[in-house]
Amino acid sequence: MPLYEYKCKDCGKVTEFRSSMDNKAEMAGSLICEDCGSRSFSQVFGGIALTQGSSGGNDLPPDTGGGCCPGGMCNL
Ligand SMILES: [Zn+2]
Repeated sequence: MPLYEYKCKDCGKVTEFRSSMDNKAEMAGSLICEDCGSRSFSQVFGGIALTQGSSGGNDLPPDTGGGCCPGGMCNL
């Protein structure tokens, strides 16, 4: 279960919580700062490695070799 960090926009206190992806938005919406009681948070992405491009990425360049062998070695 991933760990999320949210930083209070008012006092800067970082609050951590663990939640499933489905409950993340709900958890974030119910956060209250322990220090100042603020509900204004911004998510901190420092410790989480996000993977980009989960779909696609098959845009390979065309094969420049041509024919059956790269470099035309077939004609020897
Ligand atoms: Zn605060």
